[in-house]
Amino acid sequence: MLKNPFNNNSLVNKYQSLINQINILETNLKNLSDSELRAKSFKLKQQYKDNQNLDELIAESFALTREASLRTLGLRHFDVQLIGGLVLNNQKIAEMKTGEGKTLVATLPAFLNALSDKGVHIVTVNDYLANRDQVSMGQIYRFLGLDTGLIQEGMSTTERQINYKADITYVTNYELTFDFLRDNMALNLNDVVLRSFNYCIIDEVDSILIDEAQTPLIISNNIQTPIEKYIVAAEITDYLELNTHYKVDEKNKNVVLTEEGSKQIEKILSIQDLYDPRDPWIPYIINAVKANALYFNNIHYIVQNNRIVIVDEFTGRIMPDRRWGDGLHQAIEAKENIPIRQKTETVAAITYQNFFLLYPKLSGMTGTGKTAEVEFEKIYNLSVEEIPTARPIQRNDLTDLIYKDQFSKWNAIAQTCYKISSTGQPILIGTTTVEKSEMLAQLLSEYNLSYQILNAKPENVRRESEIVAQAGKKGSITIATNMAGRGTDIILGGNINFKIQKQLYDILTIAKNYIISKQLDIFKSLLITQFNGISQKFVSVLLSLVTDEKFLTLSDIDILRILRENDRISIPTISYQCSIRYLINELIKYNKKHQEQENQIVKNLGGLYIIGTERNDSRRVDNQLRGRCGRQGDPGTSRFFLSLDDNLLRLFGGPKVQTFMQTQISDDSPLESDLITKSLDSAQERVEERAYQQRKNLFDYDDVLNKQRNIVYYERKRILESVSLQKSIFAYGEQIITEFLFELKDETIPLVENLFGKNLNLNYLSNSKSLKSEFDLYELKIYLFNEFWLTYQSKITELSVYGDGIIENLERSILLINIDRIWREHLQKMTLLREAVGWRGYGQKNPLYEYKQDAFYMFETREEILRHLVIYDLLRSSIL
Ligand code: ADP
Ligand code: MG
Repeated sequence: MLKNPFNNNSLVNKYQSLINQINILETNLKNLSDSELRAKSFKLKQQYKDNQNLDELIAESFALTREASLRTLGLRHFDVQLIGGLVLNNQKIAEMKTGEGKTLVATLPAFLNALSDKGVHIVTVNDYLANRDQVSMGQIYRFLGLDTGLIQEGMSTTERQINYKADITYVTNYELTFDFLRDNMALNLNDVVLRSFNYCIIDEVDSILIDEAQTPLIISNNIQTPIEKYIVAAEITDYLELNTHYKVDEKNKNVVLTEEGSKQIEKILSIQDLYDPRDPWIPYIINAVKANALYFNNIHYIVQNNRIVIVDEFTGRIMPDRRWGDGLHQAIEAKENIPIRQKTETVAAITYQNFFLLYPKLSGMTGTGKTAEVEFEKIYNLSVEEIPTARPIQRNDLTDLIYKDQFSKWNAIAQTCYKISSTGQPILIGTTTVEKSEMLAQLLSEYNLSYQILNAKPENVRRESEIVAQAGKKGSITIATNMAGRGTDIILGGNINFKIQKQLYDILTIAKNYIISKQLDIFKSLLITQFNGISQKFVSVLLSLVTDEKFLTLSDIDILRILRENDRISIPTISYQCSIRYLINELIKYNKKHQEQENQIVKNLGGLYIIGTERNDSRRVDNQLRGRCGRQGDPGTSRFFLSLDDNLLRLFGGPKVQTFMQTQISDDSPLESDLITKSLDSAQERVEERAYQQRKNLFDYDDVLNKQRNIVYYERKRILESVSLQKSIFAYGEQIITEFLFELKDETIPLVENLFGKNLNLNYLSNSKSLKSEFDLYELKIYLFNEFWLTYQSKITELSVYGDGIIENLERSILLINIDRIWREHLQKMTLLREAVGWRGYGQKNPLYEYKQDAFYMFETREEILRHLVIYDLLRSSIL
């Protein structure tokens, strides 16, 4: 039976009988040997092969996974984790609070679904988490005879292929989506890395499917850019005044020029018309003004290595590979006086929404999904199930404190930190921007407090997880932008895993120096004093490792690399792997005792104290911040410090709040007001709703493109996988002839010079009158078909001297290249269309409907163009 306080929870009831079954099976498995367990796993695979039914395997496979996890990691899935696993297998979102062990939950459905041999993808938000999870959870799968893959940034095509072939692959949303786009640009089957999609579990699903779904992922090429115009436009903004020359709509992130503004600019540029379509200035001016009035350094972007790098407003993370579109990025580059990069042309693009919908079976997990349930259901058809916690939550969420202005708010925060940290209770402070993090850091320094700062800046990103992991250590103060280091386990008293890596690194590098200087004995005694009570075997394993000749030639960096990569399977340092694994395990044991004490001390101090410095744009993000404390029934406290001039209140608070601002608070003391709390809640809901509408809009528009993309990618795949395309080529040629004759019949269509005719050297085809008088249409058709076959045949003969398969490859490439070319042009046209329909909205027409109509027609002509291009290229091709 479930031991949790929500025993009458309907979700629990729903799964109770399955849970009971799993528990019963588990008792039987306890008595089996490791190899017998593995045999069970193979039996399940066979059973799937025979019956093609996963449902009948659920109980047994879950029980197996649980037992394998206990034997490899020493972790036994709690019953609520089993429920989480069942929810995931039911293609839903499992909402499980931070620290409830979602990483382990995913192993249950992953193993089950991998039994089909069709592959399972587990998607995480960054490379660090993918690596961490693959390394730890991989032990379970390997124990059961399955293999795991890991995709990391910078991996080669071959490495990717191997890793995607694995039964279960850990990968980031980013790598996965780009691999998909690249696969669909491949000209050769050998370059394709992904298999057909089967089952996907998305970790931190709200972060990926909601926060990151605001902009599509794009692969692009450079195109000509009028750089001077951007520069001049940026200079002009110096001569423009807010409200006189332009107006700013902060809510909608838009600017408009006033009449006076237009005149002023035309005067400066000495041009007649800003809007002149032959020499348009207006888009450059508007972008320059936007860049000045709405986009700020260290808030919306940072400048790094002479580049503008976008900072995600929701998460505070940098997004190095994204660019703002439509010339805005260039305008900001001009404003910041850094090199202006070429405008780009999209060659492939997809939104996360449409990408993840490609999976026949999709699921996700997060600590904060419920408030976005509508969106998950409407767009992804995923419902959200709240899973009870294994232990009751003990977090204390204090009511918001509201200050009259920023100054008093930040001072109060610093004072609070001062007071709390004097007891040793650890504090984690969430900020919304890099700038604010740094401002607070300054303030804390004035109070002589030491802190760790963690923001979207690149120099910190790598260490994010390491820092966050220690946020629960006694006396530590950590300042972090939203969601920095998300997914990292904050253990009260500190996380020993990170500490151990450093400890071993220190031991190994110090040992090396002593041994090189032949002072082995001194090192030994040092070691034993410092690690009082460490096992004898630890010492001997360590000594045999560090006295190894090859080891002595390694640099410190090499050693660090070996430690970092120790758990990856495919690196050439295997020889040290066992020893290092052993040393790490011993150090874990050694440190654990100490850790337990520290953990208890911090618990007695009240656990982690979370400070929010501003309500975020969605309740979800606030909840994520709060959820970072109170892990697994730990104590913890959270409190938000707000100010009446916080953005959210200022922009969306409404007139009531404005009056309130003027009349109420007059000094530095805070206020706890129902009115403000309510307005904040509703403001937040409005912002959420608005953001949702924007994503929904993006989704609706992308829908039509998505259907077209599916068609093109499907066709492309068929071509890529086919051995010979001769049939298609024949069909193309014949269809061109048929169309040509059809045009000929219809006097009203003027006969344009036909590419095809030219290729066949049938110049006389260009004179339709004489053609029609000389030939009967049917005879003409037969004649042209023959001509085409003959020309094609002679081309084949001509080319086949270069070797077997040349023709097939050539035909395939020509088809693919032209498909891609047409698709690329189609994408640009669609972008223009999207802008154009915006204007048409005025005529009481529905822009989305108009867009769909036109998009449909634009797509329709594609086939015909393709046929012509392919035949044209093919008949003209030669090998150099
Ligand atoms: P989440 O992703 O839900 O925030 P994690 O997967 O990071 O949580 O796990 C948090 C911590 O809980 C980890 O230290 C993990 O080892 C531990 N944990 C997870 N499941 C169990 C379990 N069944 N028994 C004991 N510890 C567990
Ligand atoms: Mg997690």
